[in-house]
Amino acid sequence: MTGRSGTPSPTEPPTAPAVAVIGAGAVGLTLAGRLAQHGAEVTLFESEPATARIGSRAICMQRETLEIWSRLGIGRAVAARGVQWRIGRTYVRGRELFHVELPTTDEHVPPFVNISQSEVEEMLEARVRALGVEIRRETRLVGLDQDAGQVVARIETSAGVEERAFGYLVGADGAHSAVRHAVATGFDGHTFHDRFLIADIRVELPFTQERHFHFDPPWNPGRQVLLHPQPDGIWRIDWQVAPETDLDAERRSGRLDERIRQVVGPETPYEVVWVTSYRFSQRLADAFRIGRVFLAGDAAHVMSPFGARGLNSGVADAENLAWKLAAVVRGAAPEALLDTYDRERRATARENLAATGSTMRFLAPQGPVRRAWRWLVLTGAERSAWLRRHVDSGRLAEPARYAAPSGSDGRLPIGSVAPDCELPGGGRLRDRLGREIALVVPEGHRGIASAIEVGSSSPYGTDRAWLVRPDGYLAGSAPLDEVDVWIGPAMQRLVVTGWA
Ligand SMILES: Cc1cc2nc3c(=O)[nH]c(=O)nc-3n(C[C@H](O)[C@H](O)[C@H](O)COP(=O)(O)OP(=O)(O)OC[C@H]3O[C@@H](n4cnc5c(N)ncnc54)[C@H](O)[C@@H]3O)c2cc1C
Repeated sequence: MTGRSGTPSPTEPPTAPAVAVIGAGAVGLTLAGRLAQHGAEVTLFESEPATARIGSRAICMQRETLEIWSRLGIGRAVAARGVQWRIGRTYVRGRELFHVELPTTDEHVPPFVNISQSEVEEMLEARVRALGVEIRRETRLVGLDQDAGQVVARIETSAGVEERAFGYLVGADGAHSAVRHAVATGFDGHTFHDRFLIADIRVELPFTQERHFHFDPPWNPGRQVLLHPQPDGIWRIDWQVAPETDLDAERRSGRLDERIRQVVGPETPYEVVWVTSYRFSQRLADAFRIGRVFLAGDAAHVMSPFGARGLNSGVADAENLAWKLAAVVRGAAPEALLDTYDRERRATARENLAATGSTMRFLAPQGPVRRAWRWLVLTGAERSAWLRRHVDSGRLAEPARYAAPSGSDGRLPIGSVAPDCELPGGGRLRDRLGREIALVVPEGHRGIASAIEVGSSSPYGTDRAWLVRPDGYLAGSAPLDEVDVWIGPAMQRLVVTGWA
């Protein structure tokens, strides 16, 4: 068996077919639930006794995340409970510079909802248990070994350390991942100098359902303040503060109250629900697949939260890995399919890190040139549309576009999320995706019994058939008159390369 120092290439069929997921955060829970839905046996290990219901890290959940949770069975409930915001206002020194409205579309979940991560985790856990997943709390992964046939996890419980063998193991155990350490995978990157102070407060403000971003307000000169609405009248205020800022000292001296008063006004009553301070890092694991071991979510990548790309991209990791791992465990796909997880999701993580990195360079510029550029942009943005485009308060998360080997007829790009549409017989296309590989054909095409028929005015057109992966991505397309000869080889390619 190979331990920390070696990475076997898994060429033998697994001797222990089940999957272990380490960490019951949003990513581990999503992954475990989706693995179970795809027919894989899965056990989830979590070191903590329960989800901490105080405060939240992530609050901003993107449409594609809600779609994935809809496939699990809780997406609509999360969307209904969350605050749907569509307007983001940007201020410089207290004056509104511009506002953006998120596009409204006819899709069945909103572009973003704000809801506490911990509340979503509770909903996820209830659902994942209902799907029959064994969730073992108060169990901590402390080490692992793997060889060509299995992974042996060392799990610490109140009764001591036990060894359990699995076919595959996924580390969804957060930024300080014990799994990543156990497989000795690097996590290069850096930590930002500035500190962020976060307060969730219950307060009634004259505006609702809007995100407000203040550059250089008179009450936090030279730095930023961000306001986000949450359910139950709670607002998140996020101040960028000097690196030496001490939260306890701020509380004791009354400075925290002063900061909050500057935002909510001198008389408005408020209640502090949660307060914390953070320094953010940008880091990427050297590999997301190490033999039979995988990394997902913060265990694989961490990034600044401006743009809401952390949890949202972690949930997309889970969705990408779940169908592939389940297909391999069920014997429906070869091991090679698993390499595509690393390829697709590491490329996406790099893009996300590039986006959040450039936002942080604008928010916390280092050096005279960057500071001069920021000053130029912020002072000139009111008059210049070109400079306005360079005001960067976070480029909001979007679903990844993967590099698929083949294009298409140009209408819909292969490697992007399959667009939703109403189905002629009622219901929506996206409600039918997420189980098996789906074949989408124009209405009236009677060739293949299990195909999903879409209307002639849908984005899918009238002359092509489309294969959609279980994670909702367009995998390939062919003219209708070639479908019969294309479909067999296309399916074979899909379960090896991820693309038809
Ligand atoms: C202030 C702040 C605001 C943020 N806002 C957003 C946002 O709006 N949108 C967004 O998309 N992202 C946001 N993020 C990022 C987001 O919170 C993380 O990306 C997300 O929590 C990652 O989820 P995860 O499941 O990968 O890891 P985690 O949430 O860290 O979960 C890991 C789990 O593993 C468990 N665990 C750890 N070690 C072990 C072990 N050895 N054995 C067993 N269990 C273990 C932990 O107890 C934990 O439950 C924000 C982050 C911060 C700090």
